[in-house]
Amino acid sequence: MIEKMIPLADIRYVARVPHIPAQLQAPTGLLRDTLGRPLRDLRISVTDRCNFRCSYCMPSEVFSKDYSFLPQSSLLSFEEITRLARIFVAHGVEKIRLTGGEPLLRKHLEVLIEMLASLRTPHGKPLDITLTTNGSLLAKKAQALKDAGLQRVTVSLDGLDDAVFRRMNDVDFPVADVLKGIAAAHKVGLAPLKVNMVVKRGTNDAEIIPMARHFRNSGVVLRFIEYMDVGATNGWRMNEVLPSAQVIERLQAEFPLEAMGANYPGETAERWRYLDGAGEIGVISSVTQAFCGDCNRVRLSTEGKLFLCLFASQGHDLRALLRNNDSSDEQISGAVAHIWQGRSDRYSELRAALPPDSADLPSNGARRVEMSYIGG
Ligand code: SAM
Ligand code: SF4
Ligand code: SF4
Repeated sequence: MIEKMIPLADIRYVARVPHIPAQLQAPTGLLRDTLGRPLRDLRISVTDRCNFRCSYCMPSEVFSKDYSFLPQSSLLSFEEITRLARIFVAHGVEKIRLTGGEPLLRKHLEVLIEMLASLRTPHGKPLDITLTTNGSLLAKKAQALKDAGLQRVTVSLDGLDDAVFRRMNDVDFPVADVLKGIAAAHKVGLAPLKVNMVVKRGTNDAEIIPMARHFRNSGVVLRFIEYMDVGATNGWRMNEVLPSAQVIERLQAEFPLEAMGANYPGETAERWRYLDGAGEIGVISSVTQAFCGDCNRVRLSTEGKLFLCLFASQGHDLRALLRNNDSSDEQISGAVAHIWQGRSDRYSELRAALPPDSADLPSNGARRVEMSYIGG
């Protein structure tokens, strides 16, 4: 059957209504895509809104006060998210990351966490549930999140220098308040705590060493992320990417490091530890070292569209199955299996194969989805 194209109420992205196969196969947890990759990691965007305007993600010229974010009625409800999550878990998902936009802006998020924390894998194991946040509301919410069943958090923080940080978030938000959020998360036992720093050459690369110094011996795992060409609005240029190899070189000069093995297959970060025992850091080299070969991640947008790759320009409209077609769990499960089994995405690998001066891939005129819409 040919998949049907429908216009979205929000016309920014094209989405397909998924095909429900006539023959429904029961989930086995062993689903594989066309490249043999399993489905393990579900990232759920719970809002497309954010109180920051990081230039690499939601530049203020584009995401201005006139920008129309999704109306409340478009958002998946907590019941809809949990219903889909249960179906994904039956297909092999073991880890759920809540993201956005800024996930802590979604009202009563702890209720959703409680609902997700009650899910079990086919082997009866609880899920690994985590959240990525800019940390601005964490001091206020850490205890409620922990009580609801959240195990750990990742906080994004692009520098310790207050002026640099305020410039990067572009809403004049003070770094001290994010540090209070990190301390609160630590105190309530959201562990292991990770801090992600996007490195933009010429903007915050002077913060690499101060950040490393600050988080050494703290138990926090600091990870440096290469600035990515995700979305279509951030004006990405290759010369603003500081390759992870150079980040490691700079760190090595100050604090000797040794490489560690991966925790699990498909881990995005390459891990290193300080030789003096001061802890661990990571680098995420999405631009200079493609890791599509192990990519077991899928992303659910705020309004229920499923994206198979961070660099996709088209989603699969699961909300249409939930709301318009009134499909059964078995039918949605069959549609999800069909979508994953047809997946062949490997954007970063393909881009890496291009000559360095053509570091972007044509998308046939379709606009790539924004990170704030599908989450990191
Ligand atoms: N607002 C939350 C936050 O900032 O942690 C969650 C959503 S944000 C889209 C998720 C992650 O994506 C953040 O760690 C952010 O730094 C990262 N990110 C956004 N745009 C990026 C880009 N162009 N390159 C690399 N990382 C990016
Ligand atoms: Fe907001 Fe996170 Fe994007 Fe920054 S990276 S604008 S905090 S969604
Ligand atoms: Fe996965 Fe797409 Fe990133 Fe490759 S480019 S690692 S397929 S999300």
